[in-house]
Amino acid sequence: MSETILRRRWLAAALAAAPAGAHELARAGQGYALARKVRLWENTRKEFREAIESGALRLVIVPTGSTEQHNEHLAMIHDTASVTLVAELAALRLYPQVLVATPVSIGISPHWMDRKGTLTLRKETFLAVVFDICESLRTHGVTRILILNGHGGNVRPLRESLADFREKLRIDVQFHSYWDAYSPEIVKKFMESGKAPGHAAEFETSFAMAAFPERIHWEGVDYEKVKGRLGIRDPQSAKQDEEFAREARWATTAKGEAMIGIAVDWLAGRIERMLA
Ligand SMILES: [Zn+2]
Repeated sequence: MSETILRRRWLAAALAAAPAGAHELARAGQGYALARKVRLWENTRKEFREAIESGALRLVIVPTGSTEQHNEHLAMIHDTASVTLVAELAALRLYPQVLVATPVSIGISPHWMDRKGTLTLRKETFLAVVFDICESLRTHGVTRILILNGHGGNVRPLRESLADFREKLRIDVQFHSYWDAYSPEIVKKFMESGKAPGHAAEFETSFAMAAFPERIHWEGVDYEKVKGRLGIRDPQSAKQDEEFAREARWATTAKGEAMIGIAVDWLAGRIERMLA
């Protein structure tokens, strides 16, 4: 599967900067086994218990994404898949100090409900799910949590809830979207459209080309033909939809690789500061 091959490529890049123990695992041909190690949901309770009790595990990333329309050509899981990939690659680099919790795969997306297929949670439902995950982790002895987001609609509610989360949990809880890694200069340098993160356009399509090309489905997409059937009522929103489709054509694998690399470097650095 191409996803496996590409993930291996990214794993190889992550491993180049990983600590000695990780290199040994990679040399033993256990690339996937190592990726498994940073996924909380693939760990056994024994592995988790030993990691937390030994003090080796020091921080858990909680990825938050969405299941929402990504125009005509990208899979609806894009935001969840992209934020989880960035989280895993950074966690691999810092293995065994960092684990990735099971991603929250449905976010706050009422603004896309006029496009078919989008799933949305109410703000309070979403925040309760994220909080309960953090509380579960704290119950097991986790003292540092980084909520890492990959969907625009989740940003404000999470940012506004952070103080409340900290107050209730009394541990170190931080929040970022992975695109906080991108300064205006970086966006200008890599994105012809001058936009990142954007939505289903140049940036996200480039990300998908680099990380999971099997989630891009250009075949049979003729936007001119399809736009009359989309049923987007707001003319401004319909115009934007068309703009996304046009800008998505500017995507390249190289742009995606560069942007993913920048996000992983930035995230690993951010976590290192939390662990210092
Ligand atoms: Zn997206």
